[in-house]
Amino acid sequence: MAGARQNGSPISHVAEGIDEGITELFLQLGNETRLAILLALANESAPITRETYDPSGLSAVPFSELRELVGIRDPGNFNYHLRELEGTFIRKGEDGYELLPAGNRIVATVVSIAGTEEVTLEPTEIDLACPQCGAPTLVTYQRGRMYHLCTECDGNIVVGDRHPPRILSGIVLDRSVLRDRSPEDLLLVQYGWKFYSFALAMQGICIMCSGQMEGTINVCDDHEPSPRGPCGSCGFTYEAAGHFSCSVCNHSMLWGVIPLSSIHPAGIGFCWEADIELDFGSGSLDTLRRLYDLYNDSTVSIQSYDPPSVSVTLRNNDDELTISFDEDLTAVHVTTT
Ligand SMILES: [Zn+2]
Ligand SMILES: [Zn+2]
Ligand SMILES: [Zn+2]
Repeated sequence: MAGARQNGSPISHVAEGIDEGITELFLQLGNETRLAILLALANESAPITRETYDPSGLSAVPFSELRELVGIRDPGNFNYHLRELEGTFIRKGEDGYELLPAGNRIVATVVSIAGTEEVTLEPTEIDLACPQCGAPTLVTYQRGRMYHLCTECDGNIVVGDRHPPRILSGIVLDRSVLRDRSPEDLLLVQYGWKFYSFALAMQGICIMCSGQMEGTINVCDDHEPSPRGPCGSCGFTYEAAGHFSCSVCNHSMLWGVIPLSSIHPAGIGFCWEADIELDFGSGSLDTLRRLYDLYNDSTVSIQSYDPPSVSVTLRNNDDELTISFDEDLTAVHVTTT
């Protein structure tokens, strides 16, 4: 039955050659009753308290109650839809049905983008100078991405025409990030999100799917940054960058080894001693100013190109922290002076 249904379906056409299971999972979701079941279970989930704490964080809903919530009369038909979702998006426990993490994420993704009318923020100047050239900088949100832009130099990254010019940093963020936030807040959110997603990646965990992330060091062996910004050869100002890629969902991320060093537990402590609290939720642009100064005073030394290994020295006045990374971004040596 499933085979006949998939025959010639657009999903199976696209998923061909990837993983056959993907077609089946998309088709499981391609039905309004099943989406209603996921939404009903999410609506019924009680917030975690000490009294109701359950490691899944989600409450179970009995069959008849769930059927009533979704508004389906025929129990046989309803049972069929539940079975289609079971084991992947929901599970049946002793007290009823509950969402599995994947089902919860699907609902959370949709709910987080609902009700937001404003989906673009035109480039807006903020009170923060470019860490490279000192010119004023802008924050903008467009097509699902948040960018920090310089008004004069070429920024940190050279990318295609689909992106605005002069990018200092950019990140993909759901448009829910725009709710009740000023442009300054947006930049702090970007740093908060980057720090935590890269901190997870450094521990081998993908922020998107909790799958295993592999790290590698990318070193540009012909690195010549121009006075206005990125190197013509690699397109970055960073000579050495950490690259992470998830073996499950293909999510990948890249960042310079200097900021990555500040996420290492020793780096977080070093920043703390330098009076830079890496908590962007309660921080201000002053936190970023001090962080930029620390990054500008820090240096990278390439220990080897093949296999790549680097040493990063973070500097704050006379204090130094040196972290050496091997090719898979494991910190093999940490020293302070
Ligand atoms: Zn600049
Ligand atoms: Zn380069
Ligand atoms: Zn992943």
